[in-house]
Amino acid sequence: MPKGSRKRVLVTGGAGFLGSHLCAALLKKNYEVLCLDNFFTGKKDNVLPLTSNPYFEVLRHDVTEPYSAEVDEIYNLACPASPVHYQFDPVQTVKTSVHGAINLLDLALRIKARVFQASTSEVYGDPEVHPQQETYWGKVNPIGVRACYDEGKRCAETLFFDFHRQYGLPIKVARIFNTYGPNMSPNDGRVVSNFIIQALKNEDITIFGDGSQTRSFCYVSDLIAGFTAVMENSGDATGPFNLGNPEEFTMLELAEKVITLANSKSRLVFLPLPADDPHRRKPDITLAQKTFQWTPKVKLEDGLKETIKYFMGLLS
Ligand code: NAD
Ligand code: UDP
Repeated sequence: MPKGSRKRVLVTGGAGFLGSHLCAALLKKNYEVLCLDNFFTGKKDNVLPLTSNPYFEVLRHDVTEPYSAEVDEIYNLACPASPVHYQFDPVQTVKTSVHGAINLLDLALRIKARVFQASTSEVYGDPEVHPQQETYWGKVNPIGVRACYDEGKRCAETLFFDFHRQYGLPIKVARIFNTYGPNMSPNDGRVVSNFIIQALKNEDITIFGDGSQTRSFCYVSDLIAGFTAVMENSGDATGPFNLGNPEEFTMLELAEKVITLANSKSRLVFLPLPADDPHRRKPDITLAQKTFQWTPKVKLEDGLKETIKYFMGLLS
């Protein structure tokens, strides 16, 4: 690369929740950013503030079809992440993860780019090991309603590691645990956005099951710092790296926090637990801490306050 020129990066799923924050962070780091998205769950509004930057481009494309561009790095985030959305068209969800991975890995190989895969804590399924370390192989129902996402992401990981072993392709795999923050879609169906919207409208808060199931919630700025650290500061390590905030909360605790912070009159209602819903989830992030000195900093209360402010803006 000529001295002084910008690195070029392709972000698939760049108009989604995480993708839009990643594009913004990469532009700040002086990358030239190509955002690719089919706008299934992503929105142009998420990247609108970036479009005045001449080093930012948006392209409508589906990763299940081959795509070509000359870039130095690829971040593959394309895939709906909310259970409601990934179960809407499960066959397309599998294709997005598997065909998408094949297309992007083929491209990376041809243009000699380093490629990052946004994998997920769902590869651990409903885990028997707690907290989850990267060495745990998981407990996933291969024929259940979450399998289109879980198994799709597991197969994508397989493809990444086979391209690495077979062709020496430089890969980075991050297993992302539940992340929240501004730019989440209000209709996303995930727990943080649901609870906040319900609380702001003083509507019933929908607790699935008895609310004793746990998740660990990472604020988006912490996660994005983790993405770029994996890509830039992990040397030859491929991962998989767990990225998430290890503080664990029950859904009842989350609901109570949201009601308090939103100053809401909402009451709790209990609805049936969806099939195969994991009971507990908490990342062991020792590997990320040791390899590239990454630790999330934002407390749940502080992150929720920012996210509530964002949703208040959308509702006003
Ligand atoms: P999101 O739904 O907001 O973003 C996904 C983006 O991918 C959207 O812009 C969507 O339009 C796009 N997309 C979907 N299918 C596509 C296709 N076939 N071709 C091109 N674009 C496509 O979700 P998110 O929370 O931003 O998640 C981003 C990535 O991170 C996903 O791969 C997801 O699996 C992973 N992840 C997210 C979380 C989380 O808590 N947010 C947790 C684990 C993993
Ligand atoms: N959940 C809930 N109420 C909602 C949405 C989700 O109680 O309105 C629960 C869901 O059953 C799960 C947890 O919250 O136990 C996290 O769900 P989410 O869809 O955000 O992500 P997941 O980690 O399950 O992929």
